Amino acid sequence: MARVKLVNVVKRFGEVVAVDHVNLDIRDGEFFCLLGPSGSGKTTILRLIAGLEYPTEGEIYIDDRLVNDIHPKDRDVAMVFQNYALYPHMKVFDNIAFPLMMRRKQLKLSKDEIRRRVIEVARMLRIEHLLDRKPSQLSGGEQQRVALARALVRQPKVFLMDEPLSNLDAKLRLYMRTELRRLQRRLGVTTIYVTHDQVEAMSMADRIAVINKGRVQQVGTPDELYNKPANIFVAGFIGVPPMNMIPCKISVEDGNPLIVCEGFKKQLDREIYDIIEKRGYGPEVLLGLRPEHMKISREKTVDSIEAEVLLTEPLGSEVIVNVKLGETIVKIRAPPGTNYAMGEKVYVVIDWSKAHLFDRETEEAIV
Ligand code: ATP
Repeated sequence: MARVKLVNVVKRFGEVVAVDHVNLDIRDGEFFCLLGPSGSGKTTILRLIAGLEYPTEGEIYIDDRLVNDIHPKDRDVAMVFQNYALYPHMKVFDNIAFPLMMRRKQLKLSKDEIRRRVIEVARMLRIEHLLDRKPSQLSGGEQQRVALARALVRQPKVFLMDEPLSNLDAKLRLYMRTELRRLQRRLGVTTIYVTHDQVEAMSMADRIAVINKGRVQQVGTPDELYNKPANIFVAGFIGVPPMNMIPCKISVEDGNPLIVCEGFKKQLDREIYDIIEKRGYGPEVLLGLRPEHMKISREKTVDSIEAEVLLTEPLGSEVIVNVKLGETIVKIRAPPGTNYAMGEKVYVVIDWSKAHLFDRETEEAIV
């Protein structure tokens, strides 16, 4: 088990800044996800921790030991990358057993013990029946699971995983997420897991670092990221459907601060207005509303806002209703069975206690 720390780490490839002053403190035994879109620098961060890349600036620590100059094989990390490399001439069993065979004497492992560990991990990954095959006789998803098994069998200080489930079909991926998480809990090995799939990160991680353009946008538990996104990028990246963003303005009428949006306005708490004034935010803001924090109905009420239905998407367990609110199209979560005609006039009630406000210019969360 180990703690992994990155201090002001920068990685440049010529003109490209792949990793831009990244600071991370990953706790002992934690399941930590690096989440971000393609090209955001996740793999590069993982490769830096593994020792496959050298940082242009900054320090990397594993258990308080500076590892910048330590060879990958002396870092005691096990890696599973997108492009797994299996030994083509070896059977699956020997591929998985290889890291243990290499260090058999050092680890004082008997052949029986190695066999037991290989079978245990193969069973968990549902590849027990493939142990006598060669890699060329396996599908892509099976090869990926063999690569995963080879890493898991070792019990190193740190697991580094780069989209290890990407080649699996949807059902197997769901099963593997749970199994991997259970195994990690049992072994307690610090795990750093790269994915661009926010559902995967949210369902597996203790904490997540959201990365964009080489920079850490926010680090937090899945709940923190969902309920208190630090900026527009995180708010839009976490959650399906994503948070609705409605362009509004902050203004003051008769001494009262207001949020003024197309078709409706709302009194703003004095405390929030003070923050806006103090930090120089606004007047252009985005009102952020999760699809479940708006209610739709045919009944007009005092605080409802008129809207027009564009489309309903029945998803079985819920219905997503797309409505035009002012000039913005928003998605609203509704119970199963909800049915509106295209073009129907409806009334939307916002749960203001759950609303978010972002500054347009800095893209930072105001509340
Ligand atoms: P993906 O999810 O697509 O794998 P990623 O978030 O893991 O993406 P990286 O692979 O870390 O992103 O790449 C970050 C940036 O660095 C990209 O712009 C990429 O083109 C660039 N990059 C990565 N490796 C190199 C390299 N060896 N030489 C030059 N540029 C590189």
